[in-house]
Amino acid sequence: MEELQLIVRVVEGLGVLALVTMLYGAIVRGLPERLRRVCVGLVFGIAASLVMFHPFVVTPGVVVDARGVLLVLAAPFGGGWACLIAGLLTAGARLQIGGMGAHAGVVSIALACMAGYAFTRLPARLSAGGGLGPLLLLALMGTCQSASFFLLPPEIMLSVIRRAMLPVALVNAFGVVLFGLFLRSESNRIADAARNVREATTDPLTDLSNRRHFERTAPDRLAMAEREGRSLSVLLIDIDHFKDVNDRFGHDVGDVVLCALARTLRRNVRASDLVARLGGEEFAILLDASVPAAGTIAEKLRAGIEAGLDGERVPPVTISIGIAAAAPGQSIAATLKKADLALYEAKRLGRNRVHRHEDAVVADSPWPAHSSPVAGL
Ligand code: GH3
Ligand code: MG
Ligand code: MG
Repeated sequence: MEELQLIVRVVEGLGVLALVTMLYGAIVRGLPERLRRVCVGLVFGIAASLVMFHPFVVTPGVVVDARGVLLVLAAPFGGGWACLIAGLLTAGARLQIGGMGAHAGVVSIALACMAGYAFTRLPARLSAGGGLGPLLLLALMGTCQSASFFLLPPEIMLSVIRRAMLPVALVNAFGVVLFGLFLRSESNRIADAARNVREATTDPLTDLSNRRHFERTAPDRLAMAEREGRSLSVLLIDIDHFKDVNDRFGHDVGDVVLCALARTLRRNVRASDLVARLGGEEFAILLDASVPAAGTIAEKLRAGIEAGLDGERVPPVTISIGIAAAAPGQSIAATLKKADLALYEAKRLGRNRVHRHEDAVVADSPWPAHSSPVAGL
């Protein structure tokens, strides 16, 4: 009968672990880093508290359940804060339940958390990797919870240790390995999905957005700016005579120049502005700025790059920039086309200059109409 009760509790425990794995996946997928740690801590803590209310009773007041499994894995999969939050919640719930094993229970909770946290501080060669080894080691470290049996009241300690210590340690260790596998496969799935998204949206050389990401995300930004009454501008940036840089210094140095320029562009606009490498030596920035303000930023960029790529040890280059206003209702393709025409003009007029598309002329523009030769800005 007792064995049957234990089996039922193990199956229930597995159900809880599966549910926690699903919630863990949703949290890691959907929430930013800090909130994620807190929420993982809350989910693990609440689950560990709930399983305590329906435990396997070793002897009245002394219970075993899946809480140790959850708490051992809280730090490795949620980090130190998640472990602390889960541990405090569970300890509070255990004290609430009471019974003569309450203090030993709280100590076992603390030991489970400490074992999980200590595991995260081990060298990566022991704690990382895809095999069973790290999980078996974690399960072994988790067995330190058994020490809490020695804190039980003396009159029951020996009989409980004789009857329960080994089976409880084995069930816990098995649970840690099994739940660890659940969580690890969920984490791997999430990491694979994130890597796929990253590879599909990022330019591998410069780490900027690629053309696809620029063209896919720009329309949403345009629509939002239109709703909020903000003006956006597109800067189309092309390195002047870049073929000569490759011919003189080699393709590798050309690549270094592209990376240095990408970093400089990223550093000189707001984090919320969309910066992309459209291809070759051509970059685009969707700036949260009206055309006059974008012109000032573009000229600062151009002059800064002419003066040297922000402390980067690369051959000097200059850039030409075409600017176009993202007009309400106009597609990003049309806006890029306008910026391209302006860039073509900047090249035609001698390069190393900023030029805006005609329909970007506005009454309060600080520039002369059409062309913005370097010295005229
Ligand atoms: P312009 O001032 O008219 O823009 O002249 P340009 O030489 O920069 O333009 P052109 O289109 O003639 O040449 C672009 C060069 O960019 C040729 C190509 O080898 C180089 N390029 C394109 N992609 C890469 C890349 O990923 N790495 C390197 N190193 N060079 C690249
Ligand atoms: Mg070029
Ligand atoms: Mg080009």
